[in-house]
Amino acid sequence: MLVMTNTKDHPTALPAHVRTVVVGAGYAGLSAALSLHDDGIDTVILEGSGRVGGRVCSERRRDGVVVDHGGQWVGPTQKHLLALAERFDRPTFPTYNTGEHIELWPDGAQRRYTGAGPDDGPGMDEYLAAADRIDELARTIDIDDPTATPDIEKWDSETVHSYFERTVANEDARRRLALAVEGVWSIEPRDLSLFHLLFYVASAGGFDQLMETEGCAQERRFRDGAQSTALAVAEHLGDRVHVNTAVRHVEHTTDGVRIETTRGTILADTVVMALPPSATQRVTFTPPLPVSRTRWVERSPMGDVAKVHAVFDTPFWRADGLSGQATIYGDRAVGVVFDNSPEDAGHGVLVCFVYGDRQRSWSALSDDDRRTAIIDTLVELFGDRAASPIDYTEKIWPQDRWARGGYAASPTPGTWFAHGHDGWRAPADRIHWAGSETASIWNGYIDGAISSGARAAEEIRKRLSR
Ligand SMILES: Cc1cc2nc3c(=O)[nH]c(=O)nc-3n(C[C@H](O)[C@H](O)[C@H](O)COP(=O)(O)OP(=O)(O)OC[C@H]3O[C@@H](n4cnc5c(N)ncnc54)[C@H](O)[C@@H]3O)c2cc1C
Repeated sequence: MLVMTNTKDHPTALPAHVRTVVVGAGYAGLSAALSLHDDGIDTVILEGSGRVGGRVCSERRRDGVVVDHGGQWVGPTQKHLLALAERFDRPTFPTYNTGEHIELWPDGAQRRYTGAGPDDGPGMDEYLAAADRIDELARTIDIDDPTATPDIEKWDSETVHSYFERTVANEDARRRLALAVEGVWSIEPRDLSLFHLLFYVASAGGFDQLMETEGCAQERRFRDGAQSTALAVAEHLGDRVHVNTAVRHVEHTTDGVRIETTRGTILADTVVMALPPSATQRVTFTPPLPVSRTRWVERSPMGDVAKVHAVFDTPFWRADGLSGQATIYGDRAVGVVFDNSPEDAGHGVLVCFVYGDRQRSWSALSDDDRRTAIIDTLVELFGDRAASPIDYTEKIWPQDRWARGGYAASPTPGTWFAHGHDGWRAPADRIHWAGSETASIWNGYIDGAISSGARAAEEIRKRLSR
């Protein structure tokens, strides 16, 4: 992992009192702390794990190949992430998107195509019509005030599975839509509220923005890994970042907040909790949080995703006219493959995504069987040269001690309607909420994490100026 080596072995003592404590050094917490620090507001970040970056986690492997185990892509409308990367001089490069993509169907049939999808592919027309309907419904959602949506009760009462069953007759189109849902939310359509799907689409600026590469969310990658900007921010903040410092308890006192950590106690005027719901649940609060916030957090489970990288001497599939991108329908563990080679193509890297039900059964296999399941699929797609990677690495996010899943949390059906108004991100007295799950724009993405941190910092500034 790319870790901050200066803070791990020689921890700086915690200050007794600061104006603002930020809990969590993912992109949301770093963004909040940076914004407050820029304004001269005395702030520290407390991070439970031994590194910054949270769900963004880059690793330099053999021969210097950097793999991104977590968040990796940035799209052209993700202005907050692009601006932060530019401020800290972290270059990006285009995702390899040249050549033919492959579709592998349950019966072993393969289709090759370029562009967004095979024009003549099974169920394609119905799939595209369904995507248009989703965009149309999503346009009615106010992303800053989602619970004001007129049809929220109806849409939040239906799962995406039942919506597709009801509105999409073609089975292959439903298969395509199900894989799209797994790919974007890393959960099964039966677990996803139609309202949350529509909010998320609105938050990203359209269904295609979530799905596509060129001009969309998967357009570019970071030369030194997506964690490199987080490391640069942490370096800039210096001793204000305390890793290996997990927050256990947050207590309102008469004139501030008392924060208990594994390394002692700090008093602060205000707190920004920049954690995913899975981690917020493990912190206790006095007085207890408002019921709406507690319910929101309890009813927002993380997705089930694993990322697997196979490294080869060269990106050999490119010479065969293939982009390295594949979508796999059916029972094979892998759902989607991308070419994750370094910019100079000095090595070839394929990244495999394993989601939802398939992730649960695949992760229960032995180490050898998991690897065999992945490599067999790569051989089926790219031929025998895929059988012998020079390096192989997996990150199974539900097993991550801090995040307990990914990419993000998805509120279960009914949660937005019943608890969204007060539970989504309304401050609880001196406690303010950040985290990708609290963003209006690019909710669930790194960009959303960064804007959520900036929003929480703005709330703090207003409070402190009163
Ligand atoms: C596999 C995967 C792929 C993804 N792909 C993309 C992508 O390509 N593009 C994109 O934009 N997004 C992607 N995402 C989503 C993106 O990574 C997240 O939305 C974003 O990083 C979340 O940032 P955050 O700061 O809100 O939360 P986190 O990154 O989860 O940060 C929370 C921090 O809090 C810490 N913490 C937890 N509990 C405590 C505690 N008690 N005390 C102190 N600290 C604590 C954690 O260790 C962590 O560092 C992906 C995510 C995953 C998992």
